[in-house]
Amino acid sequence: QAPVQIIDGKAAAARVLAEVSAEVQAMKARGVAPALAVILVGQDPASQVYVRNKVLRAEECGIRSLEFRRPAETDEAELLDLIHNLNADPDVHGILVQLPLPDHIDEARVLQAVSPLKDVDGFHAENVGGLSQGREVLTPCTPAGCLRLLQDSCGDLAGKHAVVIGRSNIVGKPMAALLLKAHCSVTVVHSRSANLKDLCRQADIVVAAVGRPRLVDADWLKPGAVVIDVGINRIDEGGRSRLVGDVDFDSAIARAAAITPVPGGVGPMTIAFLMKNTLAAARLQHSDLPAT
Ligand code: NDP
Repeated sequence: QAPVQIIDGKAAAARVLAEVSAEVQAMKARGVAPALAVILVGQDPASQVYVRNKVLRAEECGIRSLEFRRPAETDEAELLDLIHNLNADPDVHGILVQLPLPDHIDEARVLQAVSPLKDVDGFHAENVGGLSQGREVLTPCTPAGCLRLLQDSCGDLAGKHAVVIGRSNIVGKPMAALLLKAHCSVTVVHSRSANLKDLCRQADIVVAAVGRPRLVDADWLKPGAVVIDVGINRIDEGGRSRLVGDVDFDSAIARAAAITPVPGGVGPMTIAFLMKNTLAAARLQHSDLPAT
């Protein structure tokens, strides 16, 4: 078997960000400065890191970023007001509500309040429905980033059998929709699936989005499978805290043709696609601009 290809998500993300930066400059030259509003409610430490990274990355691409930090006690009506104001602001093109929200706020209602044209996370029902119909809509960043990694690594995906492990609205389901759109045969498995490992062994492509450290090892893989590991799990090992994926990397590299590492695989692509979506949202709102 040929040596395994370690898919470099950082390098792939840098290419996406370079494309975005060039297009942002071109848009600015036409008088539109793409802007992303990021809303963070409460003090969740992981969310603070994610928001900081998103804002930094936006600035690096020349996208204006606006941060709205609100205390954990903020009530839903106040948050909805803020979103309505941002929806109405012609200088704001993308709106991102960092999840999770505090328990007293109805997450679904908040996500549904974001204008579908500014919904850079692709979570609004209008965009979810559009994706499932195969339309060009704002699409969740993580699965969009995974698809790009797969296309870079495999070329045409038509006819390949993809197994997606996980059926969340954020990763598993939109991933399955994107793979279907790319003409794969798609199997989605989850915690109630029977014969999980056998199904996985039939896959040309495995996307693991489970949240279980090292669940998938070489025994789950067909020789030559391409493996995308979405999982980010913090574990204690030898008295040290480290991040591992849903795939047992050291075991899987003996069977896989290509695999993403954790960290340095899917993570950087998620933020890169957020920037791409902000640019796409700005285009949706300025469809009168001539194409670049
Ligand atoms: P969720 O917890 O929302 O979904 C997990 C899915 O995995 C569910 O569908 C669940 O099944 C399924 N599942 C759980 N245990 C098993 C099991 N033992 N066997 C088979 N299926 C199982 O997680 P997310 O989709 O939000 O995230 C998944 C992982 O990806 C997490 O580690 C998360 O941190 C990471 N992530 C990484 C991102 C990145 O940028 N790299 C972005 C987003 C997430 P059921 O539906 O039956 O409960």
